[in-house]
Amino acid sequence: MVKGIYVHIPFCSYKCPYCDFTSLINSPVSGEEYVNLLKREIGFYQGLDYGLETLYFGGGTPTLLEPKLLGEIIEEVQKFGSPEEITVEANPETVSGNKLKELKKLGVNRLSIGVQSFLSKGLEALGRKHSVEDSIRAYESAREVGFETVSIDLIYAYPGQKAEDVEEELRWIDRLRPDHLSAYMLTPYEGTPLGFRAKSGEVKLPEEEELASIYDLLWRGLKELGYERYELSNWAQRGKECRHNLLYWTMEEFVGLGVSAWGFVGRVRYGNTKNVLSYAEGVLSNKRPLESEVFISDRDFFEESLMLRLRLRWGLRAEEKELIPPHLVEFFEEREGRLGIREEFMLLANEITAEVLVYNSDRKPLEVRNG
Ligand code: SF4
Repeated sequence: MVKGIYVHIPFCSYKCPYCDFTSLINSPVSGEEYVNLLKREIGFYQGLDYGLETLYFGGGTPTLLEPKLLGEIIEEVQKFGSPEEITVEANPETVSGNKLKELKKLGVNRLSIGVQSFLSKGLEALGRKHSVEDSIRAYESAREVGFETVSIDLIYAYPGQKAEDVEEELRWIDRLRPDHLSAYMLTPYEGTPLGFRAKSGEVKLPEEEELASIYDLLWRGLKELGYERYELSNWAQRGKECRHNLLYWTMEEFVGLGVSAWGFVGRVRYGNTKNVLSYAEGVLSNKRPLESEVFISDRDFFEESLMLRLRLRWGLRAEEKELIPPHLVEFFEEREGRLGIREEFMLLANEITAEVLVYNSDRKPLEVRNG
């Protein structure tokens, strides 16, 4: 049953040096044309079994589109069901009070603001063009308008960040009290300007020891502020977890629409083309604009699901303890019948996950249920 729909809006007004998403500065396809393509693409997914819970507009910068255009997509999606959670990602410099009011009127109830840092030096190091004041203004407008959930995105471990800078980020979080918070470690992906500069030594990311202090201060600080971590990079006030992202992490079915979007339907994971012109050509000739389509076997499902559930704070059932290699048991803890990696070891989650997968490589996949 399809529970979520993701819509990728690829437009951006500039390219951040660390970005490896599909984002277009001078798109050959206009916003209106793109929305018309999306509306046609939605038609390819008619007839699936829907129990729609969430709709998520990600990007790119969805708030570069006029709310009216996002509204047209919402209307199409509502033909398949009434998602209870509708999220729009917003860049601080692109939202005014009026735009936010219009979004709320359209049924958007969750706003995710790309703050990235509450320090000017952080924004500069990340090559962001908005200011700290833009972020505060966007956040306060979102509160005035009255979105049910306001989330902010932060990036840590940027060049020049020191452990004490985290204290300043935390002070702002304490002052603003967002309902939800995502904090991602800056990754110098190959092929991005940041990746190139980090490799050539032109920019220096925090060394291991500094990184460990930054990370430690961050998660301990958020805990002290009363945030509940529910995934490796995500924290929420109770009941404010992102339902859409939880669908991904628990391997539920979702439809992905738009250039470069991913979907998972009927045990098939598909990816749309990353080229907006090929996307347009595919959709206009009534073909799904796919770049890849992979059948997820029972083994793949078991491994992917295990990998994703280990990202969740309490992703395993207590009786799944047998999946943990004996030498790693001390890295895990149990609460109310659930099992997860201890918070102080979550920085090692990738290494732990790799070992858990190797340990279970001979296990018959059907022995273990998901969830
Ligand atoms: S705003 Fe987001 S999607 Fe656009 S370039 Fe920057 S990181 Fe990439």
